[in-house]
Amino acid sequence: MLVNSIEKGIVIDHITAGLGAKILEYLDIDLANNTVAFIMNASSKKHGKKDIVKIQNVIDVNLDVLGLIEPNATVNIIENGQIIKKIELQVPERVTNVIKCKNPRCVTSVEINAPHIFHLIDAENREYRCEYCDEIVCMKGDY
Ligand SMILES: [Zn+2]
Repeated sequence: MLVNSIEKGIVIDHITAGLGAKILEYLDIDLANNTVAFIMNASSKKHGKKDIVKIQNVIDVNLDVLGLIEPNATVNIIENGQIIKKIELQVPERVTNVIKCKNPRCVTSVEINAPHIFHLIDAENREYRCEYCDEIVCMKGDY
């Protein structure tokens, strides 16, 4: 499948094959009103297979989400058909309203307006702890 380069927007490259759909889901891109190219299982010299996500006319994406799910991805900002900026991702120290706590007794499960705040406890395994109830989630697995 060939997808033309975009004039303006964002290209998320070197996504581990299979994680592209998860990234789109977590980024919560409005698919009805944005042009999104999602390439699955592209061949990659480095990793064998990779996913690529291109979003036209969107420059601002939640980098915390990308760092959580795929810190090894590369993010290119495109303007006038050229890469004007490459963003290096980091595993975020603290995320708000990205992960939801699964503990049914947690205040965030009970109070609709309570923010979901998680703190990084293990960068290698991308483990996060809920600020309220200490429930731990691992973003490296199938969360
Ligand atoms: Zn909790």
